[in-house]
Amino acid sequence: MQDATDRQSDAMTCLVCGHVADPVESAHCGTVRGNTERFKGEVFRIWRCPGCRALHAMDPVDMADIYSDYPLNRDRTLDIFARGTYRNLLGRLTAHGVSSADSILDFGCGNAVFLRFLGEQGFNNITGYDPFVREYAARPEPPEGGYDCVIANDVIEHVDSPKAMMRECLELTRPGGLLYVGTADAQGVDDMADLTPHIMRLHQPFHRVILTQQSLIDVGLELGLELVQTRRRSYMDTFMPFSNYRFLDEFNRAHGHNLDAALAPDAAGIVARRPQLLFWALFGYFLPSAMEPSVLWRRPA
Ligand SMILES: [Zn+2]
Repeated sequence: MQDATDRQSDAMTCLVCGHVADPVESAHCGTVRGNTERFKGEVFRIWRCPGCRALHAMDPVDMADIYSDYPLNRDRTLDIFARGTYRNLLGRLTAHGVSSADSILDFGCGNAVFLRFLGEQGFNNITGYDPFVREYAARPEPPEGGYDCVIANDVIEHVDSPKAMMRECLELTRPGGLLYVGTADAQGVDDMADLTPHIMRLHQPFHRVILTQQSLIDVGLELGLELVQTRRRSYMDTFMPFSNYRFLDEFNRAHGHNLDAALAPDAAGIVARRPQLLFWALFGYFLPSAMEPSVLWRRPA
């Protein structure tokens, strides 16, 4: 075992801008615990790239192992919260021409809650891919030319290489088709000595690299994609009661920032015991605790 001093001196290379820190400076490092039942007692190291401000998980993981019992892939349901937020997400796509006739790939679909929502909305040319969910682990076989629209929502922060994931999504998108990527936000995480307020967006050890909105835009531009639209606010931020990021953050906090507890069938009962959660349910939109940038690109025809 290395002691804490040695561990702080690990070298890191930014997977977004290529900045090399050897050794990393302690001012650019912090620690935070996990926010699931399995990892709530473990502390993980985070490094912030001084070049592009992307946040990197420093401790390696075995992806197959950590996703073998991932609560979001197991317990997420198409409830009122999900419907409200997915309506918002779908609106971001239909506003730019995506229709129910289009072939759509949900890249990193988890337990396919968004796919079920799309099905309810009359979309029937839809495919899911998620290497860590058995039903969706098969490599997607795109229609000739590629999918009309590829959606990778809350996925790029989970992969080993954001740029490799972007290239993979691009190859699956037809020329002239759309690629949507939404993710956690590295901006607003300023004090590396106190990462606890950001425990939900840091989501250790599952979030590997968290980009800024600008670096996300730049990664797409580097690949030759045309920027269609970018947003700061989370797709989860709606005016509908209970459907906003701040409420979700406060709800998880009320459950001790343990996702398994927050996803349990009786989890909503805590709102009756903690009436202040109703305030966030109604007004959380106006007091967001974090942003979640998204970018919509078009693959040039
Ligand atoms: Zn960087």
